[in-house]
Amino acid sequence: MISMTYPIIGKRERQCIKEVLDSRILASGKYVAQFEQSFAKYSGTRFGIANANGTTSLHTALLMCGVKAEDKVVTTPFSFIATSNSILFCGAKPVFVDIDPKTFNINPVELEQILRKEKNVKAVLIVHLYGLPCDMDAILRLKKKYKFKLIEDSCQAHGAEFKSKKVGSFGDASAFSFYATKNMMTGEGGIILTNDTRANKFGRQIINHGRNGHCTHTILGYNYRLTNLAAAIGIAQLEQLEDWIAKRIANAKKYNEALKDLDFLQIPFVPKNYKHVFHQYTVRIAAKEKRKFIKYLAKNGVGSGIYYNSVIYKQPFYKQLGYRVGLCKNAEKIAREVLSLPVHPSLTKTDTDKIIEVIKGY
Ligand SMILES: *Cc1c(COP(=O)(O)O)cnc(C)c1O
Repeated sequence: MISMTYPIIGKRERQCIKEVLDSRILASGKYVAQFEQSFAKYSGTRFGIANANGTTSLHTALLMCGVKAEDKVVTTPFSFIATSNSILFCGAKPVFVDIDPKTFNINPVELEQILRKEKNVKAVLIVHLYGLPCDMDAILRLKKKYKFKLIEDSCQAHGAEFKSKKVGSFGDASAFSFYATKNMMTGEGGIILTNDTRANKFGRQIINHGRNGHCTHTILGYNYRLTNLAAAIGIAQLEQLEDWIAKRIANAKKYNEALKDLDFLQIPFVPKNYKHVFHQYTVRIAAKEKRKFIKYLAKNGVGSGIYYNSVIYKQPFYKQLGYRVGLCKNAEKIAREVLSLPVHPSLTKTDTDKIIEVIKGY
């Protein structure tokens, strides 16, 4: 079976890990600091705060933006559940806005309607889903007009660009994940990016028990730290990220060429001047056809995945909170139709040829 993911661990990763083991400093230390600096530099921000995972990055980023109990935070329902859970961690209320069915990302027109209607929205948490940036021109225009804090969930979009500027550098703060299946990984891990000196200082306290100096704790903090061991893997992975992105884009381009004329599926849409890094290569297929197609792919040795088969507010826990089905019609429809195909950089030419042949044979 051609798998959906294959984490790459090579010589460089092993060498970096060995250095950390030999140093005897396995918890936070200079590898974490080095990783923070290189990832922030790569993404075009002043500061990076490496920490435990993408979810803790989101939670910390929201706290850095001053999100507090009872605040409203607008977000998309078509994402991984951690996106909106991080809002709940702050005691705040997720307000869901519908997506653009072409890009699968938050729809700025619907966003403005919500901002007009809902009073005192504290922040907007956008997601660059599958590695495709949101419409940042429209969102930054709304930010200027309605004065909310902007947080970017960039957990799937390391290195993605909107008009040649990298995601994670547009908002007041942004969050990345280095979970084992992301475009680059540290096993578990995450980073928050910001350009704000005070937010950076505050975020560092949040992830380290609220510590200010050695023995003074001035705010409620957590242990959200990253280890040197994980950071060492991250340093090695970041050096290779651009190559891997190029391979993902090449695989996607090959699929697009081969599949664009098939009438039972719809290839991904990438607007001009957006750099999509294809964390997922996701097609749309009629809901009633999907299950049969997945079975057919599996029978022929092609793995696939559904991200996500339900909008967040339809999850049992969110229903308990009072959210109702029908809130975001496009997102609900898209969740029934999406299917992701293997696109990772370890695929061989034989693999991608086979994937195309099998799909065409359907
Ligand atoms: C992976 C992911 C997260 C959570 O990251 P973890 O490192 O698994 O905690 C959050 N949001 C999105 C969109 C993700 O893909």
